[in-house]
Amino acid sequence: MALVVQKYGGSSVADASCIKRVAQRIVATKKAGNDVVVIVSAMGDTTDELLDLAEQVSPLPPGRELDMLLTSGERISMALLAMAIANLGHEARSFTGSQAGVITDSTHGKARIIDVTPGRLREALDQGHIAIVAGFQGVSQDTKDITTLGRGGSDTTAVALAAALEADVCEIYTDVDGIFTADPRIVRAARQIPKISYDEMMEMAACGAKILHLRCVEYARRFNLPIHVRSSFSTKEGTWVVSDPYTEGTEMEQPIISGVAHDRSEAKITVVGVPDKVGEAAAIFKTLADAEINIDMIVQNVSAAATGRTDISFTLPTADSQTALTALKKIQGEIAYESVLFDDQIGKVSLIGAGMRSHPGVTATFFAALADAGVNIEMISTSEIRISVIVGQDGVDAAVAAAHRAFDLDADQVAAVVYGGTGR
Ligand code: ASP
Ligand code: MG
Repeated sequence: MALVVQKYGGSSVADASCIKRVAQRIVATKKAGNDVVVIVSAMGDTTDELLDLAEQVSPLPPGRELDMLLTSGERISMALLAMAIANLGHEARSFTGSQAGVITDSTHGKARIIDVTPGRLREALDQGHIAIVAGFQGVSQDTKDITTLGRGGSDTTAVALAAALEADVCEIYTDVDGIFTADPRIVRAARQIPKISYDEMMEMAACGAKILHLRCVEYARRFNLPIHVRSSFSTKEGTWVVSDPYTEGTEMEQPIISGVAHDRSEAKITVVGVPDKVGEAAAIFKTLADAEINIDMIVQNVSAAATGRTDISFTLPTADSQTALTALKKIQGEIAYESVLFDDQIGKVSLIGAGMRSHPGVTATFFAALADAGVNIEMISTSEIRISVIVGQDGVDAAVAAAHRAFDLDADQVAAVVYGGTGR
C-alpha cells in the first residue's frame, strides 16, 4: 500500500462543485488501495479577500491577528472537503496545521517550519481514514500562536508532511497541466515541461513562477522527495520535479533554457550620492537586514571622480518598500547619502536553464531579443543557471514572449489550457 500526499490549490476547491469533484478524485485514490493525506488551500481568492478585509479595518494589522484571520480560509476548505468525502461514504478527518503537527518559528506571515510531528495524521491513517490538512499554517513552538508560511505556503505544508510521513509521492494539484516554459497566461505557445530539476525549479520559483512555493522546492530537494505537479481538472501526466531529470531514464535531452519566469512584485530603491568609502554599503544593507528585508538584485555604480560619491540600487518585494524607506531615512544623517529614489513600476524577467552552464552566447541572444522587442534593460543579475533583468513593468509581457521565441521554446500549437483561477 502506498502513501500518497495530495495538495489541492485554491482554484481546485473554488466552489461547492469543485470541492465535490476533488472529493471524488481523493476517494478514487483511496479506493485504488492507497493511504491518502490531503492538503488544501483556501477556496478561490479567499486569502486575498481576507487581506482586503483586514486592510479595511486597519492599515497595519498586527501579524498575530492577520495570521489568525488568514488561516480561517484553509479551515473552511478542509471541513467542506471532509464533508464531501463523508457524503461519498468514506471517512475523512480534517486537521488544522497545528493539529497536524506543523511546528514553526514565530515569524508571523512568513514562518519557517522547524519540526513536523504528524502523530494525529498517522492515527487517522491507521484507522483507515483519509486525513485532510489545512495548508499554509502551523503553530509557533515558543509563543504557541498560530502562524502562516507565506503566500502559496500550502505547497510547503504538503512537502513537509510528505517528507515526515515518508510518503511515496507528493502530488500538487493546480489549474494547469503542469509546469510550463512560461506562464501560459502570457505566452499562449508555452510548452509543458515533462521533468525539471530541483535546482531549476528553485530558480523559477525564486524568479516569480507562482506554480510552486520556493520553500516547498527547497524542502523537497533536501529530502529528495519527487513532486508531481498536475491538473485537478484533467487526468494528464503533469510535470515531475526530481533531482536529475536528464540522467534518470535519459529520454530527455537537456535544453539550454528550461523556462522564462517573470515577477511583477518587486520594486527598486536607489540610494543616491553614497560617499564611496569602506563600510558604507555594509551599513546600508545591515540596516535593511535588521528590518528583515530580503534584497534581491544589487547594482553599485562606478563613483563619479569629481564627487567621490556613488549610487546603489537594489530591488526588494514591493510589500517591504515602506519599511525599507523608513529604515533608510533613519541612517541618512549617519551615512550622509544625498537622496533616495523609489520605483515600483518595474518587473523582472528571468531565463532559467541548467544547460546554459555549457553554452556560450545565451546572454547575447537574450539581450538581442529584448532589443528587438524594444525593451530597455535597467538591471542585470546572473547565477550559474539563470540570467535576470529588470525592465519597466509595461515591457514584461513583451520581454517574456521575445525571450521564449528566441530560445525556440514556442510550441507549434497552443497546448496550454488554463482550467480555472483568476491568476490573482
Ligand atoms: N491560501 C494561501 C494563499 O493564497 C496559501 C496557498 O494557497 O498556498 O497564499
Ligand atoms: Mg492560493
